[in-house]
Amino acid sequence: MIDIRNFYKSFGKLKVLDGINIAIDSGAVFAILGPNGSGKTTLLKSILGMVIPDSGVIRIEKKSIIREWKYRNKISYMPQVANFPPNLKVREIIKIFKIFRSEISFENDLIKSFNLESSLEKKFSTLSGGTKQKVNIVLAFMFDSPIIILDEPTTGLDPLSLIKLKKVINDYKHLNKTILVSSHIMGFVEEISDRIVFLLDGKIEFNGTVDQIKKNTKKNNLEKSIAHILNNKND
Ligand code: ADP
Ligand code: MG
Repeated sequence: MIDIRNFYKSFGKLKVLDGINIAIDSGAVFAILGPNGSGKTTLLKSILGMVIPDSGVIRIEKKSIIREWKYRNKISYMPQVANFPPNLKVREIIKIFKIFRSEISFENDLIKSFNLESSLEKKFSTLSGGTKQKVNIVLAFMFDSPIIILDEPTTGLDPLSLIKLKKVINDYKHLNKTILVSSHIMGFVEEISDRIVFLLDGKIEFNGTVDQIKKNTKKNNLEKSIAHILNNKND
């Protein structure tokens, strides 16, 4: 369980997170939605301790993460942009992750599933955007972490890989993991999410199920619901 309480973060004068409260349960997929620059990445990085709040607290399993670091080995993280030293081959990057984490890993099935066998000996920097993204998916799902944070994992994926991503997320969810994901693909979010948190102007505009947001906005799909909220705000 991840509990975010009275969380504030500004960069200079820009209030990015302006009093956020969220309780995130295990065994569910939480989608973090919001327009560009609404603070999704900042919120996800805060859980990892990569962003330090101005005030507020994040607790994981009831323990504050402030000045802690060991809890991070319970988390797998797929950053929005992952950069590795350009000369490293995919196989070497996977190996380095295994050395860092020193726990059992399950990369082989993922490599097969995402058709990455022929990319293993290639330098990461030479891969296409979609293939880089698939390597990042393998790195995020190869460990048995109770918490998985995926920051825009759908970017650049081909349709078949998107289906595979939905499957790994679903399989993980059924292992009682906590999954946090941000994405701009509303169809994807609608299919995989149990709950959505919609960020707007530093605050939570909506926190609930996909069905609830559709009902509240009287729309038959999530994309229309989100557009409805944004249009009403601009009026
Ligand atoms: P999102 O992921 O929702 O697109 P971000 O969390 O990346 O949004 O960014 C939210 C806002 O905070 C943006 O205006 C961004 O420019 C700003 N921001 C993020 N990180 C920093 C930083 N380290 N320094 C200054 N501004 C930042
Ligand atoms: Mg982002």
